[in-house]
Amino acid sequence: MHIPKYTARVSIILASLVVVLTVVYREVGNWNPDRALQNQSSPLEQLEASSKVPSNEASKLEMLCQNFYQMVCDDSKVVTDPTGSVHPDIKGEVEALRLYEMILHKHPNWSNEQIDVELVNRIYTPKRREMLEDIYRWIQARMIRFIEKQTVANFPSKLKKDLVERIKSIKLEIPPPASLYANEPDLFTKNDVYYEGISKERRVIRVGGAYLLSAKSWFNRVFTLAHELSHAIDPCELSHQISQMRGYQRLLSCFHDNQLISKEQLEDNCRSNQFVGELFADWLATQIAIQAVELYSTKFKNDEKMANSIINSVKDLCHQESWLAHDTKSHPPPKDRIEKIYGEHPSLQRLLGCSTNKIKHYYCSFEEKK
Ligand SMILES: [Zn+2]
Repeated sequence: MHIPKYTARVSIILASLVVVLTVVYREVGNWNPDRALQNQSSPLEQLEASSKVPSNEASKLEMLCQNFYQMVCDDSKVVTDPTGSVHPDIKGEVEALRLYEMILHKHPNWSNEQIDVELVNRIYTPKRREMLEDIYRWIQARMIRFIEKQTVANFPSKLKKDLVERIKSIKLEIPPPASLYANEPDLFTKNDVYYEGISKERRVIRVGGAYLLSAKSWFNRVFTLAHELSHAIDPCELSHQISQMRGYQRLLSCFHDNQLISKEQLEDNCRSNQFVGELFADWLATQIAIQAVELYSTKFKNDEKMANSIINSVKDLCHQESWLAHDTKSHPPPKDRIEKIYGEHPSLQRLLGCSTNKIKHYYCSFEEKK
């Protein structure tokens, strides 16, 4: 007698699919796995290929200056920049789960391992892997340069070297082989992208399969991966060295002055949650993600494309409120992450052409307040 291999894991995955399909059926109604799995060309190719359409959207930059958070998040429609768009997390998860279901139907006798191998091959295509690896190397180089150019007064040479070594040691772990995520196979259908310091020598970043399906914007991938890389040198990872680095002390005290972190959270020192680590990772990711927008700023064909690239860099942070509601103690609220940390960066304000009078407070950095 044929017994279908409906293991507990398969049942859980299919149950998740039913739940998410019920929730978002309308939004994802036109799902097409082949289209969803199409490979992407490089961001530069796409920027050059994008048509030069006259735009009446110059005001979109002004609107970003006036109300950055609202523009990024309140506008429920997905915006497309020259490299792609950022859909709600759930869309990627639905696509990944439906793909899983499709493979299962086609091969009812396959083991979990065989299904995972096929799922991985369909999601983590060579072109997508290559794109992630390119972005990762680009971020790593920029982050190292950012640390190296800090003054010795802020970072004693030995500690600076240690920070650089930490950044260099991180490995981007993306399948295949599917066995790479053997201890957490659900990651193939999840949006999570995370950093883990496994030991002193082993630090990894892993990328959930659903993220590759929901966030195709190069700019979003830069911010997301840069945030994870930043965790390797965040104040929670370095708690024993912070007192010797004036740069970190200045930055954290500025976060407090700007009401991004409370005195209690600061004093908690990563004991009950990682709030300060998350805040720092958003801040450092911002320094890198803005370099990405600056790099391409002369290539954008019109203001709308620049505005959409800026929006997409942090668009996925809007959804934190509903999906990570239980996690508000460990992450700053979306408005702080999107507007105060990212949107108010002086270089971004300059790119947008915002008036300098609007933001009164000092934007935090490793330097002494001027
Ligand atoms: Zn984080």
